[in-house]
Amino acid sequence: MKKKLEDIATRIRNAAEKAGRKAEDIGLVAVSKTMEAEIVKMAVEAGVTILGENFIQEARDKVHALLSSSVLWHFIGHLQTNKAKIAVGLFDLIHSVDSLKLALALNRHAGRDNKVQKILIQVNIDDEPTKTGVAVSEATDLIREISSLENLAVRGLMTMPPFFDAPEKARPYFSALRALRDHISDQAISNVSMVELSMGMTGDFEIAIAEGSTLVRIGTAIFGKRK
Ligand SMILES: *Cc1c(COP(=O)(O)O)cnc(C)c1O
Repeated sequence: MKKKLEDIATRIRNAAEKAGRKAEDIGLVAVSKTMEAEIVKMAVEAGVTILGENFIQEARDKVHALLSSSVLWHFIGHLQTNKAKIAVGLFDLIHSVDSLKLALALNRHAGRDNKVQKILIQVNIDDEPTKTGVAVSEATDLIREISSLENLAVRGLMTMPPFFDAPEKARPYFSALRALRDHISDQAISNVSMVELSMGMTGDFEIAIAEGSTLVRIGTAIFGKRK
């Protein structure tokens, strides 16, 4: 585990350097979905500081199993409105907000918890009809609406490009997300700070870093293949 994490840190550093960026500006989200709490604990002991989970029930069990560690938890999966309350209780950052309905539910529960919930807006960057994420053409309006919700803080955008064997093919989708981020940033919407770009996974994170990623979400390269 330690060796794998060191390899990834080196690859992140090299990709950052090549892009003229600082490695410290790129966060590693270790994606631990389907991995047992014991394995996840090993990753934290080996230096992981952010864990990414996709399923609420599974995440809840692991958060409880790892309560003694100071690791941050991020939610990266599809979030149903009826799970908003639990999500607010567990996660430092929710990457996958893609509707006003979900945002309203998160805002309500965050208000009850006296919390300002940090969120990213998930964008359906290739406008694939079956995929989750807000359409590119609707992202700015959604963020404007969410900006008025007092207990939410929009911190940036997240995307999952279509799957390719050749990671280079994902590049246009990453650069499109960055362009959208810059466009929204230029609007200077109050209560919105577009600092984070959550993009890049095991197969393509170096390309994502070249295109401006600030949060790479890596599972397989750390934990091995999922069952
Ligand atoms: C599973 C998952 C990842 C990690 O994928 P790997 O290819 O295993 O690195 C990243 N992001 C999301 C949204 C995921 O569901």
